[in-house]
Amino acid sequence: MALLQISEPGQSLDPHQRRVAVGIDLGTTHSLVAAVRHGVAECLPATDGRVILPSVVRYLDPAQGGSGRQIGFDALAAQVQDPANTVSSVKRLMGRGRAQVVDVDKLPYTVVEQDGMAVIETVAGRKTPMEVSAEILATLRFRAEDSFDDELYGAVITVPAYFDDAQRQATKDAAQLAGINVLRLINEPTAAAIAYGLDNSSEGVYAIYDLGGGTFDISILRLTKGVFEVMATGGDSALGGDDYDQALAAWVLAQTGVSASLNASERAAVHAEARRVKEALSSSASETFRAAVAGTAVEQIVTPADFETCTAALTARTMTAVRKVLRDAGITKEEVQGVVMVGGSTRMPVVRRTVGEFFGQEPLTNLNPDEVVALGAAIQANALAGNSRDGDLLLLDVIPLSLGIETMGGLVERIVPRNSAIPTALAQDFTTYQDGQTALALHVVQGERDLVADCRSLARFELRGIPPMVAGAARIRVTFTVDADGLLSVSAKEQGSGVEARVDVKPAYGLSDEQIAAMLQDSFATAEQDIKARALVEARVDADRMIAATRTALAADADLLEAGEREQIDALVAALGATAAGDDAQAIEAATSALAKATEPFAALRMNRGIQQALSGKKLEEV
Ligand code: ADP
Ligand code: MG
Repeated sequence: MALLQISEPGQSLDPHQRRVAVGIDLGTTHSLVAAVRHGVAECLPATDGRVILPSVVRYLDPAQGGSGRQIGFDALAAQVQDPANTVSSVKRLMGRGRAQVVDVDKLPYTVVEQDGMAVIETVAGRKTPMEVSAEILATLRFRAEDSFDDELYGAVITVPAYFDDAQRQATKDAAQLAGINVLRLINEPTAAAIAYGLDNSSEGVYAIYDLGGGTFDISILRLTKGVFEVMATGGDSALGGDDYDQALAAWVLAQTGVSASLNASERAAVHAEARRVKEALSSSASETFRAAVAGTAVEQIVTPADFETCTAALTARTMTAVRKVLRDAGITKEEVQGVVMVGGSTRMPVVRRTVGEFFGQEPLTNLNPDEVVALGAAIQANALAGNSRDGDLLLLDVIPLSLGIETMGGLVERIVPRNSAIPTALAQDFTTYQDGQTALALHVVQGERDLVADCRSLARFELRGIPPMVAGAARIRVTFTVDADGLLSVSAKEQGSGVEARVDVKPAYGLSDEQIAAMLQDSFATAEQDIKARALVEARVDADRMIAATRTALAADADLLEAGEREQIDALVAALGATAAGDDAQAIEAATSALAKATEPFAALRMNRGIQQALSGKKLEEV
């Protein structure tokens, strides 16, 4: 019997509490699922031992009474024989209208427009790209559940850095159709960088060169305090390993003098053979290309040198995109600290060499290039599910709830809105409420509600030593800084005198996902009530301020007023005080304006007196 393991309290979760969380690379050509097991990220294999799942779904004719569809290798194998019902590269259709899909007419299946969406016409009816992707995702979900013999808690799914909202949403919808709880979507280059542990390494700029089956993506990431910021992305959405296959096939056909036009299945067979030869050449010194075209057997020995020559233009195109993205990011290649190679096509030695020579450094290739994105996503998923010991040092890229400061009357002034990317620093100016005020109490809160009482209090601190000034004259800049670890620090600085105070709040994300969800729910449900409450509080603050200012003025210059005027002002102050005790915001506002209006002549008299005092002793002409 195996010995039971006992861990230090608090060091690791009870195995029964461990949540199965996976990373999924939903690729154009291939998809993979990975998970952290025993502290190491690894791709999960299918029962046949293969980790790669071709992103291909074949729909079968329901009239034939078939089971409906084939997914992965089975579908890929059938592509030659049934191209019209075999959907590959569906990622290119995600979140797109038909017109937005590049080279839509070159796809072997029929794409039509439906409700502004590109959908696929198959023998089993129209399929949305989300449905097709969901088949792939569900296959990976079952694979994960089988290997853990447990239900999947959630997944981190990767998307290209350039994916827009619609494409990201389509990806989430596909996951939902597949019954997967999406912990987060993360950018593919970021996932690759995480897989290499770059988030733990020195700050700097990294290039992620991703050459897959049908796409080339180059991303420049900047790492600051453990968070990757995408500085620039570029590439070519119609350049990938497939083009290398095509170039090789064309070269072989030209070499062997085959000029007959190929039918669809011959073309597919030649293409498949070209791909096999290309892949073999990544680790062998020569390979024989064999195919049957128009009744004749084609046979041609291909060397790496031949291959490099006939595909040189393609590799050069990737480097043009690399130079452009560096320009976009405003950096030189010397500033790039590391280069990560992603995508099956970066196995080609010529690609590695070309990239290495350009950057003047060996690119990172020790992880499997077609697994690296899934591995990074798995590491992130493990942390998000709370499985990792340093789960609280999560690489969070957005603020889950707004951060703000309490202002007069218990209202919240939002400074960092929710979903702001971190790290971030945002500032806002505040002022004093009373004449001669020399200190300011600052209360930092988190939440979406307008009233402090409904938000979560994070910290309180004071700014002292403000030089005495009239109310509203001081300018106090309050700056919220959230670093990559979610550490919030708030500073307050009086701009005139430079006096400053600050507080560190740790951590800014002390809430569970459920609490965040509840707080958001709450803020939506109570928005209207909040608006009313806010209006009332604001009206009261204005009223108090008006009364205080009037009293100060009366104390100093009441002698300027006639008896009747004084009585009128006193009556209005009393009326405003009484109204402000009630909860009719409009009535309070009206009483405040009445007092403001009635004191206008008084204010003018005071101003004249002030000017006269300032000018006393000077002749008018001197001024
Ligand atoms: P995607 O991200 O687009 O789904 P992948 O990263 O899985 O694509 O890359 C698929 C491409 O990698 C295919 O064109 C395939 O031929 C190519 N590839 C895989 N292995 C090798 C290899 N050993 N040598 C060259 N190319 C390879
Ligand atoms: Mg990929």
